[in-house]
Amino acid sequence: MNAKKKPSHARNDDFPLIDGQLSIGNVPARVLASRVGQTPFYAYDRGLLTQRVTQLRNTLPDAISVHYAMKANPMPALVQHMAGLVDGFDIASHGEMRVALDAGVDPAEMSFAGPGKSDTELEAAVAAGVTVNLESEGEAERITTIGERIGIRPHVAVRVNPDFELKASGMKMAGGAKPFGIDAERIPTLLARIAGRDLHFRGFHIFSGSQNLKPQALIEANDKTFELAIRLAEAAPTSVELLNIGGGYGIPYFPGEQRLDLKPVADNLDARLPGVKQALPGAEIVVELGRYLVGEAGVYICEVIDKKISRDKTYLITNGGLHHHLAASGNFGQVIRKNYPVINATNADGKVHETVSVVGPLCTPLDILGDNMELPAAEPGDLIAVMQSGAYGYTASPHLFLSQPPPMEVLV
Ligand SMILES: *Cc1c(COP(=O)(O)O)cnc(C)c1O
Repeated sequence: MNAKKKPSHARNDDFPLIDGQLSIGNVPARVLASRVGQTPFYAYDRGLLTQRVTQLRNTLPDAISVHYAMKANPMPALVQHMAGLVDGFDIASHGEMRVALDAGVDPAEMSFAGPGKSDTELEAAVAAGVTVNLESEGEAERITTIGERIGIRPHVAVRVNPDFELKASGMKMAGGAKPFGIDAERIPTLLARIAGRDLHFRGFHIFSGSQNLKPQALIEANDKTFELAIRLAEAAPTSVELLNIGGGYGIPYFPGEQRLDLKPVADNLDARLPGVKQALPGAEIVVELGRYLVGEAGVYICEVIDKKISRDKTYLITNGGLHHHLAASGNFGQVIRKNYPVINATNADGKVHETVSVVGPLCTPLDILGDNMELPAAEPGDLIAVMQSGAYGYTASPHLFLSQPPPMEVLV
């Protein structure tokens, strides 16, 4: 037989086994469950967060600042930890801003993006001294009025909807018609208007996409981003202090996906920086990353409640599911459902394997955590872990659906 080998999940040795159990920050899953007091829960490993940021900084040129896009995971304790590691934060709501400020993040290192910021949010950001990434002409008008009313000069950058997109991205956020940012061709007119207002213009925000594992696509987007920023800067009222070139660095979720090789991306940035520094002297160049910083440092752990066989299929029915982890269920933007890496956390290297589908307690066929996966045999009471769960998990899931209890979160 010349059967084609099934693609497997990228290896992750970050959570070592202790006596056959998955451990998080050296705490075996079962002990951690006792410590948390319930299943299901999310667990994030602070050592891995530190390690990831350190590795990233060692790879990227020193002149590149790293911002954390906190919508990926806004857990206050995690945000506090990240505050000590990165150069700044990108926030997307007033709620995120409050958490970041409480964590001691300097508002001068924070920028606020998002289409549809309310007047209350704009006022809060201006009062705090956060840079607001303007996403429309209307927003520029509103923030000017707010600044005048409260007597504080707003710091603004302009979010550009570029005339290109980040190819091979999990989520495209630019190019064509988009609710995000202002179309590149309208920027010069807006900049002229900003020049006539009492606004402190800081620079540009150009975010073209997300979840990308292809260095060449990121290189191309970076090159086009620099080109566009330099062109737009000619129409700027003052020099560009801040250029946020987005990020889009992905992590492997699905079988067959490989870790992103950042070296070529970093080398290309290194090669471009002298030209950028010459064209935009004094500009701080920022990458903003969410999942790349936190996604691989987190797991979601639930418990097997029942095991049953239906015709030719074995089901592990757990107390966790799509209401806690929408992305792992395949309902957070995926076109075709694929399995996240799932393991038997209490018997991770068990020798007897079986093919199972891991499902949740909800009365909907969408409630799947792992479909037809080969796992070490599990029984009720065993713990199941969904890996790669540190980003877009807890806060990106509909906890209220079917009125099941919410999960807990713990930073270990
Ligand atoms: C969501 C978002 C990010 C983070 O995306 P990741 O894929 O998690 O890195 C960064 N910037 C902006 C503007 C975003 O909307």
